[in-house]
Amino acid sequence: MRLIAISHITLFLSLSICACSQTPGEQLAIPQQKDTTIVPQAPAPSKIPVGAQALMDNYPDFIKGYEENHLLLADGSALLYDDQEEKSFIDRMDKPDVEDMFSQPYDTSVWLPARNYDPGRVRNEELMKYMYGKNEAEARKRLVRVKWFKQQLLFSSVNGAADSLKAVAKELAQLPASYQKYFDNSSTFYWRTVRGSNRLSAHSFGIAIDICTKFSDYWRWKNPGKGEEDSLKYTNRIPKEIIQIFEKHGFISGARWYHFDTMHFEFRPDLLQASRQQTNN
Ligand SMILES: [Zn+2]
Repeated sequence: MRLIAISHITLFLSLSICACSQTPGEQLAIPQQKDTTIVPQAPAPSKIPVGAQALMDNYPDFIKGYEENHLLLADGSALLYDDQEEKSFIDRMDKPDVEDMFSQPYDTSVWLPARNYDPGRVRNEELMKYMYGKNEAEARKRLVRVKWFKQQLLFSSVNGAADSLKAVAKELAQLPASYQKYFDNSSTFYWRTVRGSNRLSAHSFGIAIDICTKFSDYWRWKNPGKGEEDSLKYTNRIPKEIIQIFEKHGFISGARWYHFDTMHFEFRPDLLQASRQQTNN
């Protein structure tokens, strides 16, 4: 112990001596002359849009790169990213390009959606079919069983979707017993179009789950006779804790939409990543 104490004192003294040996105002480093040599720069790589980058990061088995306004796909083909068309709210849902999928950032600080704020409701079907299956038989081949409370549900194994749902189930099971009622009679895979449209539902691809409808609200049920372009009354009874657990594992919630579908959760880690960068949340 004594030896250690002495060595500390020695170190302290030598540091003190070093500091004192410098006269006031003396500079340690001699200022260097600025180097004015021009170094040739490599041409800047084409800027990758936030959405394209998020797709590459989250779906690396399918999206290998981005070049000249196209996503470079694993099968060697290219998919147009931005068709540069001005679209109405309805057009954007009926004929979206890939860029339109990111037209509304999914903002986790917003609990009361403004008019027509439906982040994630726009999906480019070509891209979804390429990843999850171009028809029912193909999508079905990629499904695996996931234990969901008292049920076994089918979910896509693609892009880690099923694993993410398992992680959600594990965390939801930690909530108080009073929350369990929200997870009864849940449903997932169903190759079908969205009610009142020709658009394929995310349930067709095995990446969406509807939790208990008894405690859920859907914009068409709460606003009878109203259409997509009408002004709606908003309702949600799903607790925030449930929504936030899904979001933590890469799912978006239909409770965040103006055209609310509060039972609906959908695997969209790409949108969550892109939106974090756009909203700084
Ligand atoms: Zn749904």
